[in-house]
Amino acid sequence: METYDAQHRFQLPREVVIGRGVISQIGKVCVQLGFGRSPLVLADEITIEIAGNKVLSSLEEQGFQPQKLIIKDSTMAQVKEVEKKIRDSNINVVLGVGGGKVVDVAKVSAVKSHIPFISVPTAASHDGISSPRASIKEKHSLPHSIAAKPPTAIVADTEIIAKAPYRLLAAGCGDIISNSTAVMDWELAHKIRNEYYGEYAAALSKMAAKLILKRAHLIRTGMPGSVRIVMEALISSGVAMCIAGSSRPASGAEHLFSHALDKICREADCESPLHGEQCGVGSIMMMYLHGGDWRSIKDALHKIGAPTTAEELRIDKKYVIEALTICHQIRDRYTILGEKGLTKEAATRLAYVTEVIS
Ligand SMILES: [Zn+2]
Repeated sequence: METYDAQHRFQLPREVVIGRGVISQIGKVCVQLGFGRSPLVLADEITIEIAGNKVLSSLEEQGFQPQKLIIKDSTMAQVKEVEKKIRDSNINVVLGVGGGKVVDVAKVSAVKSHIPFISVPTAASHDGISSPRASIKEKHSLPHSIAAKPPTAIVADTEIIAKAPYRLLAAGCGDIISNSTAVMDWELAHKIRNEYYGEYAAALSKMAAKLILKRAHLIRTGMPGSVRIVMEALISSGVAMCIAGSSRPASGAEHLFSHALDKICREADCESPLHGEQCGVGSIMMMYLHGGDWRSIKDALHKIGAPTTAEELRIDKKYVIEALTICHQIRDRYTILGEKGLTKEAATRLAYVTEVIS
């Protein structure tokens, strides 16, 4: 039986600032949130130019003495380097300025150092910008997200994000649309494994996916406001994960497929498609297995200009089939794939029927 009185505890972002030019308000946001005087700004070599320097000057204008560190990769070694910097310089807040890697390193190093972090996304490519999860590469573990904390604040400057390559925005849509199958897997795990299921978190996550499916035709045209729609949906997905206390509302079998493809591409030494691109294609196939309307997912991704086939993902079709047969082993997460996963024949048929391969 469901235990409604069981304790459930979660954290949410305290402040979300979104809009054109909001990056210049970061200093003020830090003052209002009452952070100490020593912030650390993390960025990579590109994002320091397009946003990091603006963040530094906004902080300086408010009397902060910010330090900066350039992030090269999202590895545990990199996290350790940031942790050392935090200790040595008495840092009291970390700002992650960039895409996935920088935000993930900021998130994990801040959590480990027990200080808050601010997410300053420069692209709308996945929901990690607002989620309590982070993807950090460790040598011997399979790639998947680890538990961290949500950002204390998110400052999303739509003017900066609009200048990022369109491919990133399309990938972000794939990550959001994939919530549709993630929630179905969650419901299944609840029914079959009696896993905790939160109706509110599930509804919020599904709503984000529905919004993008409905507006798919408008996103590609670069309609003013499309960046904002995608960014708000990504933030909602992250918040749904915060409320659920796990990545369940936004990560099901389609995410296992994405993690499996990352693993295969890494071993084969070929370039991985973007996270959201893989999840979008995974979601088409998992929706077919759920018996749902997979065509509407495929059509929406197509309208947006996100990949819907192995060819568009620019990977060999044999990798898609291999990923489908191994993805249930990636982590202990009950999904439509069951405990035994798909046979090679079933995987091949699935990819053909959904026209992911031809
Ligand atoms: Zn994702």
